[in-house]
Amino acid sequence: MELSNQSITALRQQLISGEISSADIIDSLANAIDTKDAEIGAYLSHDLDAAIQDAKTADLTLPLGGIPIAIKDNINVKGQPCACASRFLEGAYTSPYDATVIGKLRAAGAILYGRTNMDEFAMGSTTENSALANTVNPHDITRVPGGSSGGSAAAVASHSAIAALGSDTGGSIRQPASYCGVVGLKPSYGRVSRYGLVAFASSLDQIGPITQNVEDSALLLNVISGGDSADSTSLDQAQVDFTESLNDGVAGMKLGLPKEYFGDGIDPAVRDKVNESIKKLEAAGAEIVEISLPHTEYAVATYYIIAPAEASSNLSRFDGVRYGNRVEDPKEIIDLYRRSREQGFGPEVKRRIILGTYVLSSGYYDAYYNKAQKVRSLIKQDFANAYKKVDAILSPVTPNVAPKIGADKDNPLQQYLADIFTISANLAGICGISVPCGTITSNSGSELPVGLQILGPHMGEQAILKVAKSVEDLV
Ligand code: GLN
Repeated sequence: MELSNQSITALRQQLISGEISSADIIDSLANAIDTKDAEIGAYLSHDLDAAIQDAKTADLTLPLGGIPIAIKDNINVKGQPCACASRFLEGAYTSPYDATVIGKLRAAGAILYGRTNMDEFAMGSTTENSALANTVNPHDITRVPGGSSGGSAAAVASHSAIAALGSDTGGSIRQPASYCGVVGLKPSYGRVSRYGLVAFASSLDQIGPITQNVEDSALLLNVISGGDSADSTSLDQAQVDFTESLNDGVAGMKLGLPKEYFGDGIDPAVRDKVNESIKKLEAAGAEIVEISLPHTEYAVATYYIIAPAEASSNLSRFDGVRYGNRVEDPKEIIDLYRRSREQGFGPEVKRRIILGTYVLSSGYYDAYYNKAQKVRSLIKQDFANAYKKVDAILSPVTPNVAPKIGADKDNPLQQYLADIFTISANLAGICGISVPCGTITSNSGSELPVGLQILGPHMGEQAILKVAKSVEDLV
């Protein structure tokens, strides 16, 4: 089998036994990118010549020694561009430092060779909001790969990346993983340092792995997790080997099905696929329990107040002075800010900044932002109550399979509503994983992946990885 088609775990074995070299992997990857990426468009940039040099000196005794990892374009890698797929930063910013997760990947021996496409500043669900490139779904090139980490998911799904990092503020790892048929893990808030991740909504953002299988996900989490003095929201935590309990099985586990996640509005074919895998988990010895997350209906509204509010504040740093492209011949300073931002940001980013500024403005702050914070506490409490009864929660990742390119282009609200199953995890700070659970045949005959979401309590990654591994083995 082509080396670029293989998992980290499979490649590591061959590297250690001396059957292959890291340079062989880079060659295979270069070939895969050459032959596929013109069509898929997963990458914004890559430097495989530099990667070959890194491969020659890779320390194979390290946990990711000699393994190339693709990085979403909103995570700083020293010496590489970091444009968040925005015109504002394109050609105007080279990272002067490594994000903490990048330092950890380097220390584990990984090779960082390429940047993946995304929705501009991670705002979106299809990667169509990228200002720099178009990415398509490798399973059906007339469809979107999902977003915002669509480039990372499409790269892994098309085997033009072994594994990748993404970021998830409201589903941006789990949703594209689901649409592309790969594994996407959003760690608990605080599990992974956000230092060096360009902030979208700081109280919701987490970095996590997008991989071909669950074991690789656990392996990458081992490397990137940990408290960090550079991010005061990261948590000190005992060093856990997340691969250790992967094969323990689900017998005796209590798995909750929230009744609010299986109602109207879901494509029945998606619901059937998800239910099939739930039946298999039950047959494997899990106890399936119906639960309720009563404030689910408010999650989308709550998220689309809090996330834009934080974004409007975080994105104020892009002004054409401190960061980003600036317009020529400004009349005065306000003109420089105004026109640089007008030209630099795309329509969705502007929409979020306007929404966020509005809900934070005096007179509306209490009615929207404050209210949303209160509802966020209720959503968090729903999960706390549920985890008194169950070990993990099962649900669809999305109500539908990957939509056609352009389907929701003029209807952002429709797109926001489809985030219903993923955003609550970010609001509550808990962990979640998307694992493939089958495919649905489209009208045109393509096989479209469906993901099962497993939500765990805060810092409960071991439990959800174990359930995900069982799903992978059973379906
Ligand atoms: N689709 C959601 C949004 O547009 C989530 C994005 C994300 O997780 N970065 O905000």
